Amino acid sequence: MTVHFPFQNTYAALPANFFARVAPTPVAAPRLIKLNRPLAIHLGLDPEVLSSPEGAEILAGKRVPDGADPIAMAYAGHQFGHFVPQLGDGRAILLGEVIDADGVRRDIQLKGSGPTPFSRRGDGRAALGPVLREYIVSEAMFALGIPTTRSLAAVITGERVQRETMLPGAVLTRVASSHIRVGTFQFFAARGDTDGVRQLADHAIARHYPEAASAMRPYHALLEGVVARQADLVAGWLLVGFIHGVMNTDNSSISGETIDYGPCAFMDHYDPAQVFSSIDEMGRYAYANQPQIALWNLTRLAECLLPLFSDDKDKAIEQAQFILGEFAEKFTTAYQSGLRAKVGLFSQRDGDEALVQDLLDAMAKNQADFTLTFRRLGDAALVASDDSVRALFLDPAAFDEWAVRWRQRMAAEPQSATERHAAMRSVNPAFIPRNHRVEAVIQAAMKNNDYAPFEELLSVLAKPFEDQPEFAAYADPPQPEQRVLQTFCGT
Ligand code: AMP
Ligand code: MG
Repeated sequence: MTVHFPFQNTYAALPANFFARVAPTPVAAPRLIKLNRPLAIHLGLDPEVLSSPEGAEILAGKRVPDGADPIAMAYAGHQFGHFVPQLGDGRAILLGEVIDADGVRRDIQLKGSGPTPFSRRGDGRAALGPVLREYIVSEAMFALGIPTTRSLAAVITGERVQRETMLPGAVLTRVASSHIRVGTFQFFAARGDTDGVRQLADHAIARHYPEAASAMRPYHALLEGVVARQADLVAGWLLVGFIHGVMNTDNSSISGETIDYGPCAFMDHYDPAQVFSSIDEMGRYAYANQPQIALWNLTRLAECLLPLFSDDKDKAIEQAQFILGEFAEKFTTAYQSGLRAKVGLFSQRDGDEALVQDLLDAMAKNQADFTLTFRRLGDAALVASDDSVRALFLDPAAFDEWAVRWRQRMAAEPQSATERHAAMRSVNPAFIPRNHRVEAVIQAAMKNNDYAPFEELLSVLAKPFEDQPEFAAYADPPQPEQRVLQTFCGT
């Protein structure tokens, strides 16, 4: 059977130095462990074909579908602040682009499909654990309404990969509105290739910021657009307690999607300094540092675009600084309005920011669970009892003091308790991919070849704002002995 995907490959039509043409490396015995059927249909792909033996071979990189033009993309990047002029897809291969049911162009990429010219010392492979983690967390992010790459499929390869120990190999099929990163611009800028920067900018505008094309200054409008989307994205992360873990410029997407899930994690108890990644020793990418790091990454993007802004370098810098200056306000607006919604406020008043900050401070001091505090606050708004929320604080009295001010503030709004309760439930999830749950799923798959926990976790996380009483335990924070203190890239 020949399998045809309705691919259109615009990135592969860019100049030859944008990528390396390379086919996936065949694997021994691919087996499909998960297919995202609704996503397949949305992408115009036939789930029956994808779940056939031929489909599994395609998703494992053993067979290249008709219409594909497989490439590894070139990019550079600042890793933990240090510039690396050449990174590139070392273990990912872009099969091609499809147009989804909404008319949006989507990259279909295999991650873990074998070495490429950008692999350096890596094996081009992925281990099962990180593949499952990315599948779970990216799909959870989607259900939470946060821009993200998606997961179309996971296959095991039937081969082992060497990490600290030998681990089962797997391939993730990732879907993104594109894989253009800040680091992709840096690749050309670092080579003094202004034409390359311009061609990439034109491609990014056509694909992600079409309105910029007709702006008076399209490249300025491109930077403005990326600044706005990154500000919204990071606000969205903070509002659900997400820590990306490796916000290097090569993991920072031009489209404004969350990309490159590695040692990412959701926090349990609220701690602004929280870090999970084992490689982030200095806490550069700690929870509360993320806005500042996003701006740092955007500044690196702006540097790449300077030659397109003006021949007068000083003028170009001034213009870039003006646009970057908008990040703080955009982020603060998104974050503060998100926080007001989380505590159930419909309006904005002087003092709201301090009110919410005081709650966060009390949560931090009392190790209150981030997700549960806000979820239960919604219940407290309805029933006028604070018992379930205050129990989350080491010293429940710390909540009581705050709750008096909170109830006074709510009383000044005309909305009913029922309306407020409903609004709060729609922004405060009950279910997030808690680390200990993700870890348990990975262990069951690796040790017992048991994917039932993976399926169950995915189905709970697909409806994060619904109570799902039969799965209530998934909302619980870890017991002290279940706590996961570190997450690993696993590359
Ligand atoms: P990451 O930390 O996953 O964002 O990757 C950083 C860089 O290392 C990218 O250029 C990746 O393609 C590359 N890389 C990560 N893991 C591997 C691997 N197992 N084999 C080859 N390249 C890799
Ligand atoms: Mg990366």
